Amino acid sequence: MDCVFCGIIRGDIPSKKVYEDDTVLAFRDINPEAPVHILVVPKDHIASADMIDTTNSEIIAHIFEVIPQIAKDEDLTGGYRVITNVGPDGGQSVPHLHFHILGGAKLPIHMGV
Ligand code: AMP
Repeated sequence: MDCVFCGIIRGDIPSKKVYEDDTVLAFRDINPEAPVHILVVPKDHIASADMIDTTNSEIIAHIFEVIPQIAKDEDLTGGYRVITNVGPDGGQSVPHLHFHILGGAKLPIHMGV
C-alpha cells in the first residue's frame, strides 16, 4: 500500500520523531502551521477517524493518553489544539488516521490544518 505515514512508520521515509511506542508514533509535521505541529498516528493503518469502531478504539484511547505526554514534553503549558480531518470534504490529505497537535502560540479561533 502506498501510504506515506506507513512509510514513516516502517522507517522507509525520514521523519522527526518525538514519541514512539509499540502502537503509536508521533513526528513533526513537514509543513508546520504553528510553532509546535506534531502528528500522532496509530502504527496500524486506519484510514481515518471515520473507521474507528470497537475493534480499534483501544488504540485511539491510547493515543489520547499519549497526547498529554507529548504536550508536556513540548512545554505546551498554555494549551494546544488537537485536530483530525476526515475525508476529502474534511480536508484530509493523507489517508492514514492522524491527530494534529498544534501549539506554542495563541492559535486563531478558527484555525484549521
Ligand atoms: P491532513 O491534511 O489533515 O491529512 O494532514 C496531513 C499532514 O501531513 C499535513 O499537515 C502535511 O504537512 C503532513 N505531511 C505530509 N507528508 C509528511 C511527511 N512526509 N512528514 C511529515 N508530515 C507530513
